[in-house]
Amino acid sequence: MKTESKDPYYENKKRWRLEHKELDYEIKKRWRLKHKELDYKSKKRWANKNRETRNGFQKKYAEYNPEKIEAQSLANRKVKIKGFCEICKVNKATEKHHPDYAKPLEVMFLCLSCHKKIHKGVIDGKE
Ligand SMILES: [Zn+2]
Ligand SMILES: [Zn+2]
Repeated sequence: MKTESKDPYYENKKRWRLEHKELDYEIKKRWRLKHKELDYKSKKRWANKNRETRNGFQKKYAEYNPEKIEAQSLANRKVKIKGFCEICKVNKATEKHHPDYAKPLEVMFLCLSCHKKIHKGVIDGKE
């Protein structure tokens, strides 16, 4: 295979590179390092920002009320919502409410609006 070229521009460049091998290498290396650093920094910044907002929130939430998380996930797996809201008895039940997180399977079936009222303290969900 012949790779020879008669192009004077190419020949010059080739010669320059051969004569300045180290310089050529340095330039390329510097360019790569500079760009790698930029790339790395922006990725790191993005990861930091995300870790703070997502993990930070989840961690605090779980630490604050592990019982609640447990009860909710258990109820999600074991209890199926059916029938009408236990408070207004008008709307279809779409929410589960735990009057007592120590009893994860004892839930009330509520509509969204009654559920909100309970958590705002407008009505008492504990009967
Ligand atoms: Zn309701
Ligand atoms: Zn609730």
